[in-house]
Amino acid sequence: HAKELGKNNYQFYSPALDKSAEERLALESHLRKALEKEELLLYFQPQMELATHRIIGAEALIRWNHQEKGMISPGHFIPLAEENGLILPIGAWAIQKACEINKTWQQAGYPPITMAVNLSGRQFLHQPIVEIIAQALKDTGLDPQYLEVEITESLMMVNVDESIEILKRLRNMGVKIAIDDFGTGYSSLAYLTKFPIDILKIDSSFVFRILESEGALAITSAIVAMSQRLGLKVIAEGVEKTAHLRLLKDMGCDIIQGYLLARPAAPEDIAPMLTPKYFENIEHGEQQEN
Ligand code: C2E
Ligand code: MG
Ligand code: MG
Ligand code: MG
Repeated sequence: HAKELGKNNYQFYSPALDKSAEERLALESHLRKALEKEELLLYFQPQMELATHRIIGAEALIRWNHQEKGMISPGHFIPLAEENGLILPIGAWAIQKACEINKTWQQAGYPPITMAVNLSGRQFLHQPIVEIIAQALKDTGLDPQYLEVEITESLMMVNVDESIEILKRLRNMGVKIAIDDFGTGYSSLAYLTKFPIDILKIDSSFVFRILESEGALAITSAIVAMSQRLGLKVIAEGVEKTAHLRLLKDMGCDIIQGYLLARPAAPEDIAPMLTPKYFENIEHGEQQEN
C-alpha cells in the first residue's frame, strides 16, 4: 500500500515544493527558538469609543522579529504554530504578556482599558484555556473585567457545546467575550443568542467598503442595529478614514479600531493615546500620521 502511495505521489514532487517544504522546516525550527530568544513581541492597536472619543480598549497583536527576515506578521506563522502545536506556549505567553502590559498602564495612572487577546483553534479547544487565563490574571493582578478574548464564529462552530461551556466559565470569571471577523464565518444568526458574548467585531472587509458599496454599507449598519437590539457592544475594524468614522457614528456604532487611530505599535507608542484628550479632534482634524 505504501509503495502504491509512493508511486502515486512521486509525480507531484517538484523542486519548488521541496524548497517550500525546506523553508517551512527552517521556519518551524526558528519559531521553536523564537520564544526563548524573545523574538516574539506584542503590538497593540487602540479602540476608541465614538460617544466620547476616548480609548477604552486595545487589541494585542503578535509579531515575530526574525533576526534575518525582520518583522513577520502573524498571518505567516500562526497557522504553522497551530499545526505543530507551538501555538500553545506562544498563546499562553501572549495572554500573560497582554495582561501584564495592561496592568502596567493602569499602574502608570492611565484610565483603565480592556485588553483584547486573540485565541485560535487549538488554543481554545485543546488545552485548559480557562486555567491559563485564570493563572495570567492571578500572576499579573489584572482585574478580569479588563481582559477580553476574541474568537471567530467559525471557531465557535467547531464544537458548539464545548465552546459554550468554555465561554461560560470565562464569563463567570468576569472576562469579556468578543466575536472576531463577524460576518465572514459560517455560523447562523441563531447562535448569537446561544453563545455568551459581549461584543461583535464587524469584519474589516465590510468596513473598508462602506463609502463605495451600498451592500457593504447595508450589512455594516444592519450588524450595528442588530447588536443594539441584542444588547451587545459593536466594534468596527479596519477604520482608515474620517469619512468612515462619521458614517459609523451616524449608524450608532459604539467603538472603532483601525489605521485612522493608529497602526498596531509597541506599548510605549500606544500608552500616550490613553490620555483622555488624545483623539478629541480626530473627527475634524487632519488624518493621523502613521
Ligand atoms: P484580527 O484579530 O482580525 O486582527 C486585525 C488585523 O487587521 C490585524 O492584522 C491588524 O493589524 C489589521 N488592521 C487593523 N486595522 C486595520 C486597518 O485600518 N486597515 C488594514 N488594512 N488592516 C488593519 P495582524 O496584526 O496582521 O493580525 C492578523 C491576524 O493574526 C489577527 O486578525 C488574528 O487572527 C491573528 N493574531 C494576531 N495576534 C494573535 C495572537 O496573539 N494569538 C492568536 N491566536 N492569533 C493572533
Ligand atoms: Mg482580533
Ligand atoms: Mg478581526
Ligand atoms: Mg482576522
